[in-house]
Amino acid sequence: MKVNAVKCEKCKNVIYSRSVHDYRECICGNIAIDGGFDYTKLCFIGKKPKIFQIEVNATKRELYNDWNHINNKFGLIKDEDDKIIQLNDKKFSFFKRLFKRNV
Ligand SMILES: [Zn+2]
Repeated sequence: MKVNAVKCEKCKNVIYSRSVHDYRECICGNIAIDGGFDYTKLCFIGKKPKIFQIEVNATKRELYNDWNHINNKFGLIKDEDDKIIQLNDKKFSFFKRLFKRNV
């Protein structure tokens, strides 16, 4: 499902709120988001972060339970996760080039 998220310019964390009253802070504490799917409340130091939508592989209920049971599997995406995706993309284009050369 799609959720509203913000990215911290300082620590590069992407955060989103899983439920009303789920106040989520990035690791460095520069930004925070609250309100779940009903409204979006932002707290920030310095420049206002831009809200964007991301696709999360979970239902509304799963996100709520994740917050309610303090599992915290969702809600925060670290910069390292981004890097892994980028790395995989690079690998993929490398293989594509290799493939083209062989054809
Ligand atoms: Zn931060």
